[in-house]
Amino acid sequence: MFAKDKALVLFSGGQDSTTCLAWALDRFAAVETVGFTYGQRHGAEMAARPRLRAALRDMKPGWATRLADDHVLDLDVLKAIGGSALTDAVKIEMGDNGLPTTFVPGRNLMFLTAAAALGYRRGIRHIVGGMCETDYSGYPDCREETIRALEHAISLGMDRHVAIHTPLMKLDKAQTWSLAEQLGGAALTKLIVEETVTCYEGDRAHRHEWGYGCGHCPACELRAKGWARYRATVS
Ligand code: ZN
Repeated sequence: MFAKDKALVLFSGGQDSTTCLAWALDRFAAVETVGFTYGQRHGAEMAARPRLRAALRDMKPGWATRLADDHVLDLDVLKAIGGSALTDAVKIEMGDNGLPTTFVPGRNLMFLTAAAALGYRRGIRHIVGGMCETDYSGYPDCREETIRALEHAISLGMDRHVAIHTPLMKLDKAQTWSLAEQLGGAALTKLIVEETVTCYEGDRAHRHEWGYGCGHCPACELRAKGWARYRATVS
């Protein structure tokens, strides 16, 4: 339905953004990707991005011609501000504010604003992100209301309509696996298992049926539970 338009996907190299990239490749005439460095404690996700892009290109007819340029932007200001378990040596746990210590305040707001600014220069009005308000994390910058408000602010501030698409917003992790299967069949779920990185520790040493990870951080636990529910529904 957006066939003539271009899209820019926030592509981190994780399960959610890889599913979003496949979703966009099924819908838009051309799809660019953007990743962000912000002083992450590990580089496993960023290292997975080129492998994932190369595999997606060959996965389905049309995807090779639609998958366009990749960009990496530096948002090290988030590291300078610090204080998160994703950027500093902080234990991953629930904080006093009721949010996990993995919360990076302003991160998704900056990601989407930077992506929209890049899109402005590239002639792209459709931004696609993997924000999701279901399941564990409860990050306030992943809520539908936050995204819609930001979409409005960006559209006003850039004086053009910018659409932020969040295809995973209402899905739980089992449904995200199902969406990947619908989009790219077993080849895509296998790619996500083998190559995407969700683990907060960036662990690529321990292989589980749902993929690589430490197996005990909240991101691994969420991914493992989602995979188990997905497998229970398909078998
Ligand atoms: Zn982990």
